[in-house]
Amino acid sequence: DQARDAGRKASPFDQAAYGDPASNLSLMSEMLEAVRTGALFLNHQPKLDLRTGAITGAEALARWIHPTRGFLGPDLFVGMAEETGHIRALTDYVIDQAIADQQALRAAGHDLVMSVNISGRLIDDLGFARQAIARVSEAGARMCFEITETAVVGNAAVALQVLEQFKAAGIAVSIDDYGSGLSSLAYLKQIPADELKIDKAFVMGMDGEAKDALLVKSTVDLAHSLGLKVVAEGVESREALAMLQVMGCDIAQGYHIAKPMALPALTEFLTRWGAEDEAADPRAKQA
Ligand code: C2E
Ligand code: MG
Ligand code: MG
Ligand code: MG
Repeated sequence: DQARDAGRKASPFDQAAYGDPASNLSLMSEMLEAVRTGALFLNHQPKLDLRTGAITGAEALARWIHPTRGFLGPDLFVGMAEETGHIRALTDYVIDQAIADQQALRAAGHDLVMSVNISGRLIDDLGFARQAIARVSEAGARMCFEITETAVVGNAAVALQVLEQFKAAGIAVSIDDYGSGLSSLAYLKQIPADELKIDKAFVMGMDGEAKDALLVKSTVDLAHSLGLKVVAEGVESREALAMLQVMGCDIAQGYHIAKPMALPALTEFLTRWGAEDEAADPRAKQA
């Protein structure tokens, strides 16, 4: 009723985070509509193999250009989708679109592993896992699912089972934002991961802060000793990229290499990158 609504609106806590629940729900129905109209779409951020100089993958990042509110970031609408029960629909869309984009890239001669971020809310959802695996398998897609360690800590038993199912289906598992959340070596040991992504907070600081550089180096070594590939996200400078190469980091991602891009721009970027690869030592262009 209105009085309760008024009381709710007066709560600065609710307002600061998401606005009132009723308008969240209407924004979420607009989100489902935006998926249909193309106002919600994916940008892809390339992942650079530091050993070969090739772009071997890309991460799908959801974008929404709202007709009246303008650009809405995923930090806003992913959180809202989690709160309102729409995260499954959003993630199903992202997976399907990433598969479609991978097929379009293949037709243009580029074969990339597509990474999709999977919310902690879905990590213990066996129905979601079964359907996601079916979609990926039917399409013959090469996929990687990025999850945070924090998400696993909350629902360990089922989450680890779901991650095992992804792995068995040939979907790579990546531990996202490592070092920024609830990190536990006990879980790190158990997660059937292929890849560990060092949180961008450390990577962005490493060319200025000695402690950040030491933490990145230690994390590279820790991951390697567990048999995981290491990705550094948030590579914003030539200096950071050079340091990561010396540290033996496997893969880099960040604005210095490429920003997240819509499919046409990504296709052009990959073609340019490949042409330069043939013309020169792949790593020389990073200098
Ligand atoms: P994330 O998965 O850790 O993605 C990395 C974020 O860092 C992205 O922000 C990316 O645009 C940004 N980034 C990349 N390179 C750099 C850099 O060099 N410097 C800086 N400062 N930032 C960089 P974005 O796209 O705003 O996404 C934020 C978060 O929202 C993502 O963090 C991810 O957790 C979540 N997200 C995005 N799309 C989806 C989705 O489809 N599903 C789910 N569940 N979460 C998503
Ligand atoms: Mg990610
Ligand atoms: Mg991340
Ligand atoms: Mg993040």
